[in-house]
Amino acid sequence: MDKKTIRDIDVAGKRVLVRVDFNVPLDSEGRITDDTRIRAVVPTIQYLVEQGARAILVSHLGRPKGVTDSLRLDPVAARLSKLIGRPVAKVNDCIGDEVAEAAARLQNGDILLLENVRFYKEEEKNDLEFAKKLASIADVYVNDAFGTAHRAHASTEGVAHLLPAVSGFLMEKEIEYLGKALSSPERPFVSVLGGAKVADKIGVIENLIPQVNSLLIGGGMAFTFLKAQGKEIGKSLLDADSLNLAKDLMAKAARAGVAFELPVDVVVVAEVEPGAASQTVPVDAIPADQYGVDIGPETVKRFSETIAGAKTVVWNGPMGVFEIVDFARGTEGVAHAMSASGAITIVGGGDSAAAVEQLGYGDKITHISTGGGASLEFLEGKALPGVVALLDR
Ligand code: ADP
Ligand code: MG
Repeated sequence: MDKKTIRDIDVAGKRVLVRVDFNVPLDSEGRITDDTRIRAVVPTIQYLVEQGARAILVSHLGRPKGVTDSLRLDPVAARLSKLIGRPVAKVNDCIGDEVAEAAARLQNGDILLLENVRFYKEEEKNDLEFAKKLASIADVYVNDAFGTAHRAHASTEGVAHLLPAVSGFLMEKEIEYLGKALSSPERPFVSVLGGAKVADKIGVIENLIPQVNSLLIGGGMAFTFLKAQGKEIGKSLLDADSLNLAKDLMAKAARAGVAFELPVDVVVVAEVEPGAASQTVPVDAIPADQYGVDIGPETVKRFSETIAGAKTVVWNGPMGVFEIVDFARGTEGVAHAMSASGAITIVGGGDSAAAVEQLGYGDKITHISTGGGASLEFLEGKALPGVVALLDR
């Protein structure tokens, strides 16, 4: 999966349509509360500017049904301009005459931001005529929106067939880390999985079993595996429909010679709420009226030992209800073990990435994927349409 990047083509003087992911969180006043996604594509835009390209940026924001004033990209243009230290022109549409004229006026090194591409339903339908209109204002297409690469939309996939299409730096980095971890990992290769539901992660577990040396399971989904082993799990999260599957997956792991590590102790509470009195119990002594909300310290110790011996670690899914600080210790323990391991460490998944940042380990992990759903599909071994459509090297 070696894709051409903006370094592989000549962009000087060209009009470059760049699909970015500016789907940033906004507060009730429409102010940007977290600009991580804007910062993430600055290197690509900066490079295009330095090369004398004419950058035309296109993104979605939220889930509008038709034109929605509160989901216009003007605040994003202002923030990007501040971050990059240059003017960013903004138009109120993403196709049509006004856009074509603004694109034609661009000088080398200029930046233009188009309006929210999801104001048109044709975007998500991957409508060819709509894609043609997007393509008509540019000479080259760059995809730097890894977070939407698992969706075949007009601005992520359709347009890539109509112009020479390459990846930006963010996309390149995502493909490099996630791709290499899965195709040629340095071993031992350990994967840590958690989060809420087994059902959400079946594809990931199935895809990883033939590839990893060890699979460490925590979080809510561990309880379905514990239950499948015949343990009583009290009121803990149970994916009753996935019990048989959990058994199958453990049998598969055993056949593949994969060490399948489940929690040996857990933190339990009577009510899942901040300040709740908690206790730590072995997994075969979970009280009937309690919920398991985190992995316990003995589990953290064991998981940490496995992680310490790894050369590659891929992590998806928090080890507990990390949103409540008292139940974030297991997640923090794993983050700490990863940061101290000296291994190539990769975190994928929206909540996992948020947890790692929130706990202060953001700069101690080799690569935190910016794409929640996209990174999960990558770990499931699925081809991402937005990536597939780019030119091969
Ligand atoms: P990601 O977004 O990284 O793929 P998920 O969405 O699968 O992760 O899981 C994150 C959610 O799992 C969090 O909201 C967290 O509170 C929840 N979770 C983790 N452990 C438990 C648990 N023991 N019981 C209930 N929910 C849990
Ligand atoms: Mg999630």
